[in-house]
Amino acid sequence: MTVFITGASRGIGRCLVEEFARLGHSVGFCWLNSDSKAYELIDSLKKEGCSVVGFKADVSNKEQLCAAIAEAEKKLGAIDLLINNAGIAQSKLFTDITNEDWDRMFDINVKGVFNAIQAVLPSMLNRKSGKIINISSMWGVVGASTEVHYSASKAAVIGLTKALAKELGPSGIAVNCIAPGVIDTDINAFLTESDIDDIIESTPLGKIGTPKDIARLAVFLSGDSFITGQIITADGGFTL
Ligand code: NAP
Repeated sequence: MTVFITGASRGIGRCLVEEFARLGHSVGFCWLNSDSKAYELIDSLKKEGCSVVGFKADVSNKEQLCAAIAEAEKKLGAIDLLINNAGIAQSKLFTDITNEDWDRMFDINVKGVFNAIQAVLPSMLNRKSGKIINISSMWGVVGASTEVHYSASKAAVIGLTKALAKELGPSGIAVNCIAPGVIDTDINAFLTESDIDDIIESTPLGKIGTPKDIARLAVFLSGDSFITGQIITADGGFTL
């Protein structure tokens, strides 16, 4: 299988690349700023014998992203699975959110998903097969105080998933969504140790998640199944 994963120099995306590449799939990915981390990922996986290519491309820039995906397809073959993982978060009171904050959140978290899907879809439609997994957030389901623009953008990804699953099902393409809870990555660097302790206390499974928890779920969703249009929350029970 050929997989393309957006936003994969660090965090969940990086773990997705490692997981799929080590399972023997050909993996293409993109990132925004972390060049050295991305090249180090490519080098280390190539040394393991994995088939992996990476491109610096901003998901909010359709031209850049389409060029990266086209190059990945040239090198690895048509994309069978797209994972829309790239995303940003920001904690701010609603009254402090600027027009620029709002636009950047939606340009990356929502338009980035639109851009990537439009890039891979013509080939998936031709082949009448393919899978798309969108990474939303539990906050897109239940909403987070001081993260209204983030929550709204992740709720948009959920709506997009459900609608697109209906539209693409007849073409043999499944569209699903993972809504992670708090996962141990840089995106949560703003949380204090006591914030993390409070989250753990409110989580029935008594821990925060790891990128591997999300990668294993994505691997499951990448397999043959009767599943489409689903929003699968992986949050240790936090939002129960
Ligand atoms: P992270 O550690 O901050 O990593 C984000 C990744 O996305 C980085 O590789 C970054 O590239 C890339 N990226 C950001 N903006 C991009 C853009 N415009 N174009 C291309 N790549 C871009 O975040 P994470 O925790 O792994 O989050 C991954 C996804 O999971 C996000 O959609 C996030 O909203 C979602 N999520 C995370 C959590 C959590 O607790 N961690 C919970 C729920 C949902 P650079 O390194 O180059 O900046």
